[in-house]
Amino acid sequence: MTQDAFEGAQSGGLPPAVQALAEADFSAVARLFADAGFAVALPAPGMLQVKHASADLNRASVAVSVGVHGDETGPIEVLAYLLDALSRDASALAVDLLVCVGNVDAIRAGKRFIDADLNRMFRPVRGALASAAEAARADDMIAATSAFFNGAGPVRWHLDLHTAIRPSVYPTFAIVPDLVPDVAKAQLIAWLGQAAIGAIIMNPQSAGTYSYYSAEHFGAAASTVELGRVGTLGQNDLSLFDEVSRALDGLLRGAPAQPIKAASHVFKVAQEIIKHSDDFRMAFDRSTQNFTALPQHALIAIDGDVSYTVKHAEELVVFPNPDVRVGLRAGLMVVRVS
Ligand SMILES: [Zn+2]
Repeated sequence: MTQDAFEGAQSGGLPPAVQALAEADFSAVARLFADAGFAVALPAPGMLQVKHASADLNRASVAVSVGVHGDETGPIEVLAYLLDALSRDASALAVDLLVCVGNVDAIRAGKRFIDADLNRMFRPVRGALASAAEAARADDMIAATSAFFNGAGPVRWHLDLHTAIRPSVYPTFAIVPDLVPDVAKAQLIAWLGQAAIGAIIMNPQSAGTYSYYSAEHFGAAASTVELGRVGTLGQNDLSLFDEVSRALDGLLRGAPAQPIKAASHVFKVAQEIIKHSDDFRMAFDRSTQNFTALPQHALIAIDGDVSYTVKHAEELVVFPNPDVRVGLRAGLMVVRVS
């Protein structure tokens, strides 16, 4: 914690660095990076781009996003402290960096979203979601992210940091698009191991998420990373985020890869549970943890006269949420592959 941050915490308010990032106010860090000779831009509200003055296609381009769900505040705190420290030691920044604070209005309101889930907007056809406030926000994020990666070298990362709604057998886990090329995927999986991410789900199909979009359209090694639980800004237990914070700091400073303490368990998607009607009912209650195992033939959900059941010897349920809009994913069933 810096002295300013410490004093902020002492006075009972939010530490200034956390307050600033939660408000998508980049003025302090932008000035420090600019003073150190970086090309700094604010391509959209809530987005900060920091590039080295000279182009180098060997340099990695790293996008880091937080607050895509407005109530997922832990990663905002983690990134705030990390950016604050890095900006005071700006010459250590080894990559071109895009920082995105996703749903700024929802963060301000202390809500997950204003009209609809921002992390379902990154798809070509939005249907009934098109009129939501989040649709325009996603367009801004896509434009700025596209501009950031346009002309970047081949080493491209996008880490979209979240916290899970419900408890999980694996307290931290990540979703990685299958379509990330093998070499980049191996580096991403190694980084996730360094960040002590317990489980990785290889995902064959977009659910309209920001990270999948970056993988599909910008060739980024991209992942949605779920870190612990939803919590109030300023009151998160940041010790839960130590390893991911260290790994992210290392990535941004170009530190050599650290040994992995324990490789993440890898899963693949067995089936997507789509809510097709308002009659949709899940077979288990809201207290069900992520990665709860269900045996073959067990009932997952009923939707009118369609029933979803477990097809493999065992499938584990992730993101069960019967409250999503009709047409969207109400859960994922996964099987372990390594
Ligand atoms: Zn989230």
